[in-house]
Amino acid sequence: MPRDRDFAAPYRVTDGRRFRLRDVDPGDTGGLKNKDKAREALKAGVARLAELQEKLYAQDRWAVLLVFQAMDAAGKDGAIEHVMSGVNPQGVQVFSFQAPSAEELDHDFLWRTARCLPERGRIGIFNRSYYEEVLVVRVHPEFLKGQRLPEKLVTKRIWEERCEDIAAHERYLSRNGVRVVKFFLHVSKEEQKRRFLARLDEPEKNWKFSAGDVRERGHWGDYQAAYEDAIRRTATKDAPWYVIPADNKWFTRLAVARAVIDTLEDLDLRFPEVDEKQRQGFAEARALLEGEERAGRKKR
Ligand code: ATP
Ligand code: MG
Repeated sequence: MPRDRDFAAPYRVTDGRRFRLRDVDPGDTGGLKNKDKAREALKAGVARLAELQEKLYAQDRWAVLLVFQAMDAAGKDGAIEHVMSGVNPQGVQVFSFQAPSAEELDHDFLWRTARCLPERGRIGIFNRSYYEEVLVVRVHPEFLKGQRLPEKLVTKRIWEERCEDIAAHERYLSRNGVRVVKFFLHVSKEEQKRRFLARLDEPEKNWKFSAGDVRERGHWGDYQAAYEDAIRRTATKDAPWYVIPADNKWFTRLAVARAVIDTLEDLDLRFPEVDEKQRQGFAEARALLEGEERAGRKKR
């Protein structure tokens, strides 16, 4: 039964040193051929996520940070929308990070995302993140100028140093009870082209089309290399990457849902236990409520 299979496990990277992007086929569907089966499994997954999220919230100890990175049109937004569709909106916080503002550029590069980290009991979602600092900025090093770093700090090692700082930041978070999980939705260049063309052809998708996205596509190889290097340097047991095949949206969503479930299940979430004193309080409250009922009946 697809419902019970762990569709995410094959794509989990916990030791970056051995990772190679070409080992993941964007068209992979984990052996599933049938979209309907996937839809059914996703439905079950969404329900399971809702249960787990309620416990996360009630226990109020752990926070979970889900980072989504991908090339344009890989399906980040749809994956976030579908996977989180069943959870209580009050327990989830989504932040999207675009090109940094003047205020953001006036700070160190982790500043803007650090302000958006999830509180205990919550799931935080970053739609793009501090990883852009070793992706788009690496592909367009001219963006570094806008960051106004002291010149002598900008060396050839800057990307390596940034990855090191990101890994240290994530280790720090994990030691503070924030479980960090990163997703790279891995779409192929051919499928991206199909999706861009659909955005041009279908009026209800026109709004998604951006000429800038087509320009970025011209740097495909540089982006893939930057992603591979970033994943190699920052995939750890405490803050794993999931490199999820993204040519079939129905599979991407299923695998992402499963990865989030695995993450939450690993936290051993439990509803807070009621102690003796609280139990006494419950008994008193019950007596009060029942007394109210009796008094009401007499009045009538
Ligand atoms: P959509 O799928 O709706 O287009 P998006 O995530 O692509 O969503 P955009 O509004 O297009 O959102 O803006 C994101 C853009 O901002 C991307 O091109 C990204 O590379 C860029 N960006 C994000 N962070 C940085 C950064 N630190 N420096 C420079 N550019 C950045
Ligand atoms: Mg965009």
